[in-house]
Amino acid sequence: MRHFDAAVDNLDERHARALGELHPQLSPFVFELLDRLGGRFKLWDGWRGEAEQNAAAASGNSNASWGESPHNNLDAEDQPAALAADLVLDPRRVQVREAETARRRGKPGWPNLWDDVAPDSLRAWADLEEQALAIGLERVWVYRRGVWQRDRPHVQHPKWLQLRTR
Ligand SMILES: [Zn+2]
Repeated sequence: MRHFDAAVDNLDERHARALGELHPQLSPFVFELLDRLGGRFKLWDGWRGEAEQNAAAASGNSNASWGESPHNNLDAEDQPAALAADLVLDPRRVQVREAETARRRGKPGWPNLWDDVAPDSLRAWADLEEQALAIGLERVWVYRRGVWQRDRPHVQHPKWLQLRTR
């Protein structure tokens, strides 16, 4: 994959930024989950601002408009305090396929961090499902391309509606 190094640099940057934008009550869950998954996942989104949320909704990656998602929460000082996180595969640890087109999340030559075809990727997503539920994180369903399906990358705090400050 021609752009492998650029992809993992970008991934590490997004991961570090997202970690810093989690609600203090979500962070311990996320660290536990990442640990149980043995480094096969990184964070892609923690907090999403208005433009990012609307872009996610427009592209079908989110069902929620700005202000409705646990990704949009702000604390009392108006600082990001996400009550949800989206995880993606770390291609250094999981044998993902290469992205095929922009619609398939990335460009040719880039690893597909959302790959759901390669056996190693499918094993990793199944482990994410199992471990997230085991530690009490909440998982959701989304309506996408005519079918209800797991929002695979997404985990949220089970009490996000009570914890959210806006
Ligand atoms: Zn999400």
